[in-house]
Amino acid sequence: MTSEVESALRGPEAFNLAKRALEAMEAAGAWPTPLNYELWLHFVGDPDGALGREMTRLLNAKEGFTEGTAEMLAAEFLPRGRLSEEIRDAGAVLNRELTSVASAIAQAQKSQAAYGETLAGASASMQNVEQPEALREVVTGLSVATAKVRQENAHLEARLEDSTKEVARLREHLEQVRRDAMTDALTNLANRKAFDEELLRACDDSERDGTPMTLALLDIDHFKRFNDTWGHQTGDQVLRYVASVIGRISKHPRVAARYGGEEFAVIFPGETAATVEAALNAIRQEIGSRALRRRSTDDELGAVTISAGLAERHTGESGSQLLDRSDAALYVSKHNGRDRVTSAERMKTAAAA
Ligand code: GH3
Ligand code: MG
Ligand code: MG
Repeated sequence: MTSEVESALRGPEAFNLAKRALEAMEAAGAWPTPLNYELWLHFVGDPDGALGREMTRLLNAKEGFTEGTAEMLAAEFLPRGRLSEEIRDAGAVLNRELTSVASAIAQAQKSQAAYGETLAGASASMQNVEQPEALREVVTGLSVATAKVRQENAHLEARLEDSTKEVARLREHLEQVRRDAMTDALTNLANRKAFDEELLRACDDSERDGTPMTLALLDIDHFKRFNDTWGHQTGDQVLRYVASVIGRISKHPRVAARYGGEEFAVIFPGETAATVEAALNAIRQEIGSRALRRRSTDDELGAVTISAGLAERHTGESGSQLLDRSDAALYVSKHNGRDRVTSAERMKTAAAA
């Protein structure tokens, strides 16, 4: 699918396709962001493809096409192709570099071997040298051979230096690709995939070192109602705002992630439930006390609140068990009226008492 649209964009129909994409975007009330443009190109270029069919379904459902929707579609239909293309390109460059270095090394080996033969020949001729004339000939032969080898070595060195630079550039680029694949594009927090990996690692570290570790889940209260009242675009802005507050207190080694639609998760390596509870209450108060305004119209939106649940890891506990307990604590926060933080540790004490 992608390649057909890609080649259409370089053919006689290119501008026609681009215009149709922009018109369809406008008709659907979607912003002409680069990502939307890419989605709509595929939509008008290949309406019966997987992405085209999914977009038809979403647009007919009239739920409003938000940046969240675009991100979701891109995650499902676009970047996998893009990522594998990047990796394929990187592989091709690496291949080229390796081939060129290998041939420079082979050439240098050949010269070294020839040099060895020249030396052996010289030493044989030296045994029967009687005239200075003949000696000079041998020495000249040696210095020519030496110069040739030196030149080969310099060439090899230069090749290696170029390759080292190219490989370093490549590594940096791949690192960027990897970071993009681990980041949620709407909020810039870690995405679910990155979170799952970090949670595994944090649980392993905590188990191995016997250090504490706490997990928190945070969820925006009545966010569906907010979207229904103010629209998804404004909802997306609020998601970004909430993410920015969560991200600000989640400096390394804490890890904050967008766990799902309007749900966030933070890993607190080395921290106990007590300090995490205080940190979450600070976030909750900051978010709940801010009167939000819609950027485009300056309408007052009121405040949004968040609910949170946290659980400190028990010895032997897996990431998914910890998630379950945090989720249960979050559920208690919702059940008890929202805009609050519940610690799974306290829940247990309360039940026991
Ligand atoms: P609760 O207090 O129980 O959490 O209520 P809620 O309405 O927040 O929860 P519910 O799970 O019923 O609905 C979540 C809503 O979050 C649904 C959807 O409108 C909204 N949402 C999820 N992801 C996105 C997104 O990427 N952008 C926007 N604007 N809204 C989103
Ligand atoms: Mg919610
Ligand atoms: Mg939710």
